[in-house]
Amino acid sequence: MGRPRFWDPDGSRFGGIPTFPWRMAPDGYLTRRQLRAHGLRPGGQQVAAQILWASRRSKGGVRAAYLYRADLAKPVRPMTPGRAAALAKANLARRTCPQCHRDAGYVLPTRYGTCLPCADSIQIAA
Ligand SMILES: [Zn+2]
Repeated sequence: MGRPRFWDPDGSRFGGIPTFPWRMAPDGYLTRRQLRAHGLRPGGQQVAAQILWASRRSKGGVRAAYLYRADLAKPVRPMTPGRAAALAKANLARRTCPQCHRDAGYVLPTRYGTCLPCADSIQIAA
């Protein structure tokens, strides 16, 4: 018994990428699906490693799963300063009363469409 068939951390035997047997990939390497479960995407990085395992169902008898480095992964939707500013502006618009033009400090109730004091005064006036 030697090393497992697919143990090739420096990629010398399997296409130049570090290769590990099923369940033996080192920490910090994730498949695209695992990244996704953490709210991450590969973010433009190359495939960093692969897992190979024998499968009678696949052509050639070997299946591969590609791994990406978690430390190079990016959030699925990065929060850039521009995006944060746009969000803040949209939130401010939802809090600004069209009646008195003040920031109510809360999202205006859709049933009034104004801040609560304005909604009150309209009801009193009616
Ligand atoms: Zn108001």
